[in-house]
This record gives sequence, C-alpha cells and structure tokens, in this order.
Amino acid sequence: MKIAVLPGDGIGPEIVAQAVKILKALNLNLEMTEAPIGGAGYEAAGDPLPDATLKLAKESDAVLLGAVGDWKYDKLERHLRPERGLLRIRKELNLFANLRPALLYPELADASTLKPEVVSGLDLMIIRELTGDIYFGQPRGISTLENGEREGINTMRYTESEIRRIGRVAFDIAMKRNKKVCSVDKANVLETTELWRQVMIELSAEYPEVELSHMYVDNAAMQLIRAPKQFDVMVTGNIFGDILSDEASMLTGSIGMLPSASLDANNKGMYEPSHGSAPDIAGKDIANPLATILSAAMMLRYTFNDEANALKIENAVKKTLAQGYRTADIATEGCKKVGCNAMGDAVVAALQ
Ligand code: NAD
Repeated sequence: MKIAVLPGDGIGPEIVAQAVKILKALNLNLEMTEAPIGGAGYEAAGDPLPDATLKLAKESDAVLLGAVGDWKYDKLERHLRPERGLLRIRKELNLFANLRPALLYPELADASTLKPEVVSGLDLMIIRELTGDIYFGQPRGISTLENGEREGINTMRYTESEIRRIGRVAFDIAMKRNKKVCSVDKANVLETTELWRQVMIELSAEYPEVELSHMYVDNAAMQLIRAPKQFDVMVTGNIFGDILSDEASMLTGSIGMLPSASLDANNKGMYEPSHGSAPDIAGKDIANPLATILSAAMMLRYTFNDEANALKIENAVKKTLAQGYRTADIATEGCKKVGCNAMGDAVVAALQ
C-alpha cells in the first residue's frame, strides 16, 4: 500500500507528522513517501505542483495531504500560487467525490455555538460532487452587451452519468452507515437539479435497503441548524455542497476536528483536514492534529478497505478526548492542555 505524503505549508508538516506517527504505530504494510506541494512545491521546484509530486501521487494508492497556502505567496502570479497546486492535483487525479463528515464527540459538545442537545453525538456525512456543476460549466465569463452593459454568465450543468456516479458513492456509503440518503437539490426551480432528482430516484431502485429522501437546498441549510441529527448521508452538487459542508463543519465548533476525503472512481483518494494551513499558528506546536489523524482513518476505510484499523484510530481519538486531552482550539477549563506533538503521542498511547 503506497501513500504519497504531502505535508504542504503552514501547520501542514506538524499535523501530517502526527498522522504518520499513528499510521506507523499500527504496523501496517505501508510505504510512505514525502513530497512538496503548494508553497513548499514552489520553493522546491518553482511549481505548486512539481512534476515529481504529481508522478508520486499518481503512482500511489492514496495521498495524505496537510494543507497549502501562506499569505506570503499572495503576490505571486495566479498559476504559481499554492492553491493552484491543490486544484490541479484534484483534477489530475479525477477526484470527483468529496466526503466531509461532521462529527461531534459528546466531550466537545460545548465547543459548538448550538445547544449541546441539538448537536451532541452528531454524525453526518456530506457528499459533494467536486468536478462538475456551475463551477465548470460552459459558457462562462463576463462580456459586454450591445447596449454597453456588462453581463456575467455561469452555466449549471450535470450529465446523467455524472449524477449517477456521485449518487452511487452516497448509496454505497449509506449502506455502511444508517442507510439513509438525503439528496439536496433545487428541483422546483433548476432543471439541472430536476434531472439530479430523477437520477437519484432511478438509482435508489438498486439500493432497496436505503431510505432516499429529497430536500431543497434552502430548507437543507435551515434543517442543518434546526435539527442536524436527522441526517445520515447528504448528497449534493458542487455549489450546494460547497456551502452546506462549510455550514455543517461549524456545527461541530472546531475546524481542527474535521477530516475529509476526495475519491476517484476506483476509491483512490486524497485525504486531508477540512481546514487550511493556519499560518498564524504555524511552527508553534499548538495546532490540532486530530482532523489529519481522522483523515488517515478515512484513508484506511475508503481506499484500503480496512474498517478495523480505521475504527481503531477513531476510538483512540475518542479515548484521548475522554481522557481530557485538548489542544488550544478545543481547550476547556480543567482539561489537559497539550500541543500538537503531545496530542499525537496521546493518540498513539490510546491505540494500545
Ligand atoms: P485556516 O483554516 O487556515 O485558518 C482559519 C482559523 O482556524 C485560523 O485562526 C487558524 O489558526 C485556525 N485553525 C485552522 N486549522 C487549525 C488547527 N488544525 N488547529 C487549530 N487552529 C486551526 O483558513 P485561513 O486562515 O482562511 O487560510 C490560511 C491559508 O490556508 C490561506 O493561504 C488559504 O488559502 C489556505 N487554505 C488552504 C486550504 C487547504 O489547503 N485545503 C483550505 C482553506 C484555506
């Protein structure tokens, strides 16, 4: 099992080192090779996605990524900026399915801005289509009309096969969870999502055990705040998923806790925390590594089909929190406040 380890920038190297430590402690047959991406790629090879990094990622079964970006690169030409490296690697690897769990451990219920009884024990998976929709549809652009007024155009489009492909990911994942899929669309107004709904209904015939429901995106945004525990798996297109997954991540209070996965058609995946490179706290050993550690657990589950070791990591994280260990972002009174490295050590100890 080959893993490309791309720490990236900012807190990336610190948090990825903790995830690597946990994977090593499991004594699995993993070949992990490190390479630069983002600002680190630019520094090493003048390219946010150096050829050698892309080659390594393509030859590996999975990619474990930290985060990219630093304000010091903001003045570079657009194609040289760290974020370009991230967008390109996602495209080059055909990662069309983005999985963002929003999980709130009862121990952290106070970290959410919502009432503990609304969010405690939340376990929701948002599946967002990542390569289509209005972000990529043609025609697009800003042009000037005959009367001299400017006009901006983007095109929302999905083909049937693109919808079926992401739908299948959602139904398959629901089969491993509580067997409920909520498909989010705006079928009352947008034809693209009317097709989305039709295809989801057709697909559901292949999954008789899964309960399929539909929700308009405006209602979904509201329900996520009102009663988020009603959801098991939510599946939606690129733009709605972009917004809803960020909203869902905030239900849990800390961005430092949320892992993510992006998968291709063969379950090859790129695994990374949902947060960015946090340059404000980089190098201080105070970042929360748990989102990255939980991303490694997702990697074992979705790419390597190793549910037992994925659960082992997730249970070790739960145990560490139950023991009172907290990094600064989730610290509460009376907790055992630790740094990034010590949190990694605590999770390793909890694995035993
Ligand atoms: P950010 O997610 O990096 O940070 C937002 C806030 O959350 C900061 O206060 C930060 O200190 C805190 N934070 C983030 N992760 C944390 C962790 N693990 N532990 C403790 N606190 C944490 O977002 P930003 O500040 O808007 O962006 C900083 C840089 O990251 C920018 O260059 C941006 O482009 C980049 N970025 C990268 C990704 C990615 O690599 N996927 C995603 C978002 C932003």
